[in-house]
Amino acid sequence: MNSNDRFFASVEGIVGKGGILVSEQELEPYAHDEFATDEFSRMPLAVVKPATAQQVGEVVALCAESGIPVTARGGGTGLSAGCVPSEGGIILSLERLSDVVEVDTKNQTITLEAGATLAKLYEATGQAGLFFPPHPGDEGATVGGAAAANAGGARAVKYGTVRQFVRGLDVVTADGRLVKLGGKAMKSSTGYHLMDLMIGSEGTLGIITGVTLSLMAPPPATMTLVVPYETAVSAIESVPPLLNAGIVPIAVEFVEQYTLKFSEELVKKSWPAKQGDASLIIIIDGQDDEALLALAEKISGILEQHGALDVLVAEDRERQAEILEIRSMIYEALRPGTAELFDVCVPRSEIAGHIGFVKELEKREGMRLPTYAHAADGNTHTHALRRSVSGGVFGDELPGWQEHHLTARREIYADAIRRGGFISGEHGIGLVKRPFMRENLGDDVIAMMASIKRALDPKGILNPGKVLP
Ligand SMILES: Cc1cc2nc3c(=O)[nH]c(=O)nc-3n(C[C@H](O)[C@H](O)[C@H](O)COP(=O)(O)OP(=O)(O)OC[C@H]3O[C@@H](n4cnc5c(N)ncnc54)[C@H](O)[C@@H]3O)c2cc1C
Repeated sequence: MNSNDRFFASVEGIVGKGGILVSEQELEPYAHDEFATDEFSRMPLAVVKPATAQQVGEVVALCAESGIPVTARGGGTGLSAGCVPSEGGIILSLERLSDVVEVDTKNQTITLEAGATLAKLYEATGQAGLFFPPHPGDEGATVGGAAAANAGGARAVKYGTVRQFVRGLDVVTADGRLVKLGGKAMKSSTGYHLMDLMIGSEGTLGIITGVTLSLMAPPPATMTLVVPYETAVSAIESVPPLLNAGIVPIAVEFVEQYTLKFSEELVKKSWPAKQGDASLIIIIDGQDDEALLALAEKISGILEQHGALDVLVAEDRERQAEILEIRSMIYEALRPGTAELFDVCVPRSEIAGHIGFVKELEKREGMRLPTYAHAADGNTHTHALRRSVSGGVFGDELPGWQEHHLTARREIYADAIRRGGFISGEHGIGLVKRPFMRENLGDDVIAMMASIKRALDPKGILNPGKVLP
């Protein structure tokens, strides 16, 4: 028996026969996340699927003893190669820890095992007549992964990102101990806020096995507006006046007309606004339809003073769902031609300038860089396309696209940093953005992060090679 076989036997002793995968065929789907380029793929030594938090602790303790890296994996929907085992070792998949533990209506909380999907979370909260506001785009993501990445989504404008809704975490430490951080209480000034340190740490400081989330009563009524503009920049520039008027929508999404064509083609549905180069999608909530109509009128007045060509109101649920479907399928529609999806976040006042910069870069590099954005958050998603585009259809691969892609990545990050922004607004750093961390945060902040990593994971076994440069 070689050392790997001995290790596999010990793991099997903890998780049982079905809890460990070692054949190449079984390992391949775990070699990459949604950002599946060859450059960022790596086969794990094994995939381990514990069924309880206790088993997670025992597996991590065993790996700590043997110096074997542990990379946590939730739904694998990440877009920054965060759950790729870049330095080998095991993938610790949370997929068998997928139960809803408790919905507590009195405290308005839900507790789930970390591997429960967002789809399960929304179903359980809906059944209890409650609402979890954040909505990262892929419901196959897990609650543990969403907490580990501090995921965002379109509804962050009014309610915030996942961080604002995490009340408690169950965490396995780098030496295999089980600890509880936070809980159901609304407030705590009791020592260092270690729970907040875990949120967004991308599996580099601990393994999340359970999550308690705050919920709220659902808004009684919602309405969706589609607002076309002549240019991308005029659409973006109309957002601050709206917010300055005291109106806080649930979502303010920016989309370009030529990007929508791909999505319309995919879902076989038609975008309601045909004028101009760009649109805003504005979602508002309120007590009833009458209040929403009054608010929609106020919004129309403000936006028409700031370049809106029209304001189209979708009152019925079917039309609202259709608009959101076209928006949310843009990623899927652009995927076949995408070299990379960027996720920078700039101060709101800089977003028009940043999008203008991307348009110039597009011309300079001869590469299409379609951009959509959570416009009120300053969080843009630009696709670097490796194929030519005509209407809503992809053409051939661009000669030399690889070089243009690397230039686009470098320049987009540099522009976001120049404007006081960050290289990731919600997708996380993972492996892909790691080389740009020092440029973004500076040596002193990186040194502080490195000392936290050393304190909580002295052997460096938790998701090594990620986040820190
Ligand atoms: C179509 C599409 C749309 C998307 N839209 C959005 C969006 O609107 N907003 C947004 O923020 N993101 C979005 N994403 C990205 C992705 O869904 C989120 O980052 C999500 O939170 C990842 O969850 P996951 O369970 O798939 O995590 P994974 O991809 O499995 O892992 C992500 C990171 O978290 C770590 N991790 C996972 N589980 C744990 C755990 N239990 N303990 C410790 N560390 C863990 C991993 O090691 C890795 O570093 C989208 C992705 C797709 C494919």
